[in-house]
Amino acid sequence: PADVETLGRHTWTLLHTMAAYYPQKPEPQQKESMKSFFKAFSENYPCWFCKNDFQKDIAEEPINVASREALSEWLCRRHNKVNEKLGKKQFDCTKVFERWLTGPAN
Ligand code: FAD
Repeated sequence: PADVETLGRHTWTLLHTMAAYYPQKPEPQQKESMKSFFKAFSENYPCWFCKNDFQKDIAEEPINVASREALSEWLCRRHNKVNEKLGKKQFDCTKVFERWLTGPAN
């Protein structure tokens, strides 16, 4: 349904942007905070089948909050899992900062 798509598009925008602006060298408190956010997110995302699969996926590959790079890469792979499930193209995770932080180089 359209809602799941609109919600998804806007949610990925928020999540990837949060990861792109996460510190390169996070403090312990910032790591904890980001972990808590994703835990709560995965319990409250308002699309039940999305949420259930996302919970399973992150149980298999736990969040990596070590750095901006690590978190962004982890999230890109999670999004690619969903892309795969929906028959969408895989996103090249080396382009994640170009897409969500800096914009295309020219
Ligand atoms: P989106 O997938 O929303 O992507 C938006 C933009 O992000 C793209 O245009 C691209 O520029 C960029 N992008 C794409 N892939 C990546 C990546 N791997 N890393 C970084 N950037 C990327 N929909 C369902 O029908 N079933 C589900 O089970 C489902 N589960 C979801 C789980 C979560 C946690 C979320 C947030 C969304 C889920 N959705 C699900 C919604 C789905 O992922 C899409 O958001 C929706 O189908 C709209 O797709 P889109 O083609 O507009 O692009």
